Amino acid sequence: MSAERENRDDVLYSQKGPPTLDEMTGPEVEAALQQTDVLLLPVGATEAHGPHLPLGTDSFEARENCRRAAIRLEALGCPVVIGPVVPFGTSSFHLGFAGTISLSSQTMIKLLTEICLSLYDTGFRKFAFVHGHDGNLPVMMVAAQEVVDNTSDALAMVLNWLTPLSKVYHTIQTSSRQEGHGGEGETARILVTHPELVHLDRSIKHHVPPEDMRKIQGGEHIKTGGGIFYATRRYQDHTPYGHIGDPALATKETGDKGYDVIAEWLARVIARDYFDRDIDPNASLLPAE
Ligand SMILES: [Zn+2]
Repeated sequence: MSAERENRDDVLYSQKGPPTLDEMTGPEVEAALQQTDVLLLPVGATEAHGPHLPLGTDSFEARENCRRAAIRLEALGCPVVIGPVVPFGTSSFHLGFAGTISLSSQTMIKLLTEICLSLYDTGFRKFAFVHGHDGNLPVMMVAAQEVVDNTSDALAMVLNWLTPLSKVYHTIQTSSRQEGHGGEGETARILVTHPELVHLDRSIKHHVPPEDMRKIQGGEHIKTGGGIFYATRRYQDHTPYGHIGDPALATKETGDKGYDVIAEWLARVIARDYFDRDIDPNASLLPAE
């Protein structure tokens, strides 16, 4: 046990608002429903991200993606409610690393569908699923369809911000290699929100051959905008540590830039599709120089 974990009373991190649904009271949700019927559902995971990042990395990212999008939407006059954060996902190919939890696809589809149908009963009608773990995209899509199929008037969509981010990320990252799961990009984003939980002193540089990387998350992969889905067997075949890339390159500044691109795209799509705003989500996502 390292010294910094000895004090059990330490504050591990702080959380900025707006609150997620589970941090609100019932009357506060009722009041929000007078303003909006749009709910952003952050879908995370509990899975290994190397020796330097916490297992909840994807859940923290999903929340921050939604938090920043909600702030942008509020400024546009398009209020939304966030959450609750779903802290589990389908993480089968990360099993084998300590602490990883993986729910079956069937369980995840039911979990996401029943969360939305409960909130439909409360009065929410428009659902936007936002991932923190791209391995959840298939079950998120099936659940979104289930929500629509099981109601007469709900809308549901799945937002994969990896595609727009992939187009501009080369201008943000400092690594000259392709960074993957738990690498520079993700580490930078957790440095923004949970610096106390990032252990850069334990980070290990680990890259994989380009032909492996192409199938894990290259531009031809469907999750980054391509047309091919490569099913993954075992992440341990690619990395003995749980992550791919050079986490030591991460900084809070590049994490902030990444989040800004993600949140801007999310907010534009939601404003256009759920608030009928004349906004082009595909216009340049980088701040003007
Ligand atoms: Zn992750």
